[in-house]
Amino acid sequence: MREFVHVGHPARVVFGAGALRHLPRELELLGARRALVLSTPGHAAAAERVARGLGAGAAGVFARALMHVPLEVAREARAEARRLQADCVIALGGGSTTGLGKAIALESGIPILAVPTTYAGSEVTPIYGLTEAGVKRTGRDARVLPRTVIYDAELTLDLPLRLTVTSGLNAIAHAAEGLYARDGNPLMSLLAEEAIRCLSRALPSLGANPRDLAARSQALYGAWLCGTVLGSVGMALHHKICHTLGGGFDLPHADVHAVVLPHAIEYNATAAPQAMAALARALTSEAPARALYDLARAHGAPHSLRELGMREADLDRAADLASTDPYWNPRPIERSAVRILLQRAWEGAAPG
Ligand code: NAD
Repeated sequence: MREFVHVGHPARVVFGAGALRHLPRELELLGARRALVLSTPGHAAAAERVARGLGAGAAGVFARALMHVPLEVAREARAEARRLQADCVIALGGGSTTGLGKAIALESGIPILAVPTTYAGSEVTPIYGLTEAGVKRTGRDARVLPRTVIYDAELTLDLPLRLTVTSGLNAIAHAAEGLYARDGNPLMSLLAEEAIRCLSRALPSLGANPRDLAARSQALYGAWLCGTVLGSVGMALHHKICHTLGGGFDLPHADVHAVVLPHAIEYNATAAPQAMAALARALTSEAPARALYDLARAHGAPHSLRELGMREADLDRAADLASTDPYWNPRPIERSAVRILLQRAWEGAAPG
């Protein structure tokens, strides 16, 4: 066994269908008396319901979270938290809402209680992102790690199928890259393999019935594990390409992950045999890249950058950006090979 260093991130995780009923208890444990509830505009009614349920325990609602945390939105939310003298934020939603909570916590140090409703995994990472003038800056800071996470699968029952699948593949991407991370370790590999197994079983069940609570719970459990891997070890080529495409070409986050993942796995296949063996076990397929591609296609997820609105003429610039300041990757990042990967992802070609 090779040497490793593992740092666990402290968080209290409350998991279970209907677990949101424990919110008052969890706020009390945090010592919070004036929580600001955050959501995206689409989730405003749910955020208002949560605030009403807390009565005097809620300081207010800020329902303007946006993808990639634009700095101006972060500033407004920080000002609102100060004005209301909030002593905690409740981030009810996906990665965008959690991200807004992190922007507030980064400045004020107040704790985040996260209630994730997608599979993005941000709720268990100390990673934050802020976007200014179209450029997304990310960093790590212990202050932004949510102190408590409530995973309630009932809140995910209405997650649209397409977002269920793309968000699930976004989660799988964290685990898949964790399997070949330079700073990976046996504990994270265990979590990653189990996470991929859970999500790849749950997604087809949800394709058949998006309101299958058992499958929703299995997917959410998988997402927790995937997020834990993302928060603990470094990511590689896949995440670099997705950040490049999402930030530089304004493509939707989870969709990009769904399209790129099979191609990134194929790129690394020969350089990371142990990771591929784990992926093959988890996906019960000797061709993991193809299995991920088929999983996406079978359930209506996008499979080409073209259908996400990317222009073929931009592929050269994307290849330049993705191979500049590269993240560590098991196979060296060669600009020409990345350009081919991007072409195949743009066309929606099947791996292999
Ligand atoms: P999102 O939070 O933007 O949500 C997408 C849409 O789905 C929103 O309109 C939202 O209102 C809606 N939605 C969310 N949950 C729903 C539900 N249960 N039912 C119905 N609709 C629902 O999308 P996301 O993919 O969760 O998050 C993407 C963002 O998270 C990106 O900015 C990404 O960079 C960030 N992220 C950060 C980390 C990290 O560790 N910092 C990890 C993963 C993702």
